[in-house]
Amino acid sequence: MSSKDWIEKDYYAALGVDKSASSDEIKKSYRKLARESHPDHNPGDAGAEERFKTVSEAYAVLGDEKKRREYDEMRSLFGSGAFRRGARGAGQSGGAPFDVSDLFGGGGAGGGGDARFGGGGFTDLFSTIFSGGGAGGGARPRGPARGRDVEAEVALDFSDAVRGVTLPLTLRAPGVCDTCHGNGAKPGTTPLACPVCHGAGVTTRNQGSFSFSEPCRNCQGVGTIVEEKCPECHGTGGVTKTRTLTVRFPAGVADGQRIRLAGRGEPGDRGGPAGDLFVHVKVRPDELFGRTGDDLTLNVPITYAEAVLGTDLRVPTLDGTVTLRVPPGTPAGRVLRARGKGVVRNDGRAGDLLVTLDVVVPAKVSDEARAALETFAAQTPPAAREHLDARVRRFS
Ligand SMILES: [Zn+2]
Ligand SMILES: [Zn+2]
Repeated sequence: MSSKDWIEKDYYAALGVDKSASSDEIKKSYRKLARESHPDHNPGDAGAEERFKTVSEAYAVLGDEKKRREYDEMRSLFGSGAFRRGARGAGQSGGAPFDVSDLFGGGGAGGGGDARFGGGGFTDLFSTIFSGGGAGGGARPRGPARGRDVEAEVALDFSDAVRGVTLPLTLRAPGVCDTCHGNGAKPGTTPLACPVCHGAGVTTRNQGSFSFSEPCRNCQGVGTIVEEKCPECHGTGGVTKTRTLTVRFPAGVADGQRIRLAGRGEPGDRGGPAGDLFVHVKVRPDELFGRTGDDLTLNVPITYAEAVLGTDLRVPTLDGTVTLRVPPGTPAGRVLRARGKGVVRNDGRAGDLLVTLDVVVPAKVSDEARAALETFAAQTPPAAREHLDARVRRFS
């Protein structure tokens, strides 16, 4: 008997008893189910034989005080609160609806971005939703199952991504009903073991020498039947809950990065642990700055005269300005570095601002400028093209 068996199998449901059942109740229920499914009473019925095995296996654990305690402990490690995904998911495939919306709840945090980006606004900030990545369908074997991971996409302003930002993230997601704690039964009543599958959640069908297990149709694979439904969730055990998480995006979060919020995904099934929430970060481009890792980049046009004669340039940083010296004789494409003016990480490490100098050539010049330039040209040695000229001469 592996621990995996213990985690996956709900022996209480197999015996149709509550978790708090006394050892007498367990024994009584076991005897009844074992009698009903005993191979001697059901000759040639493989389904009954399977049920008999299930019941026996369950009683081997729950009928032994020490093993029962160990079993309870192991399953409690996976949290509490059953969630009847089976009942809920029966009619729908794969992803349960999950919805990220209304991030800023009408515009508190960071409301200034709207104007800067014109049409964008906040409605499309948190628009793309991926459904959870877990195995689809409600027809899973019984036992605790980890809740599905949930993925959401968030678009950040360039400067927020550089500096880091804390944003409220409002999620609408399936949650466990508080009224019935997820079992779907009206308070004061208890779900009963499904009479068709005897709590196993699966039925076995024989075809020739093969037998097929399939989810029980009577209980949709849940293993229990709710006679009086919880008025809050109408017996599904789940309700749509709105929750607001505060998500801290660290300084320097990058476009395409994925932030994991452990345990903030969908709740687990039947006592399983919750899944994780993964937030995919998109960073809106800035109209001035680019980014390479922790360095910010900026292109600055200068004239040919400035490159030749040198100049001091006052350029913007993300938070202010910085003055950079362009030394005389600076070639086109030279990159100047303003130390520490890039992304400043939480641990104090900082990137730089890398300023690329673009020497711009005017499309038109005045007559005076042309005359001056011709004078200049006459006093300037020709460009160093000898190595190219030698090759050109071969073809002439
Ligand atoms: Zn309920
Ligand atoms: Zn059933």
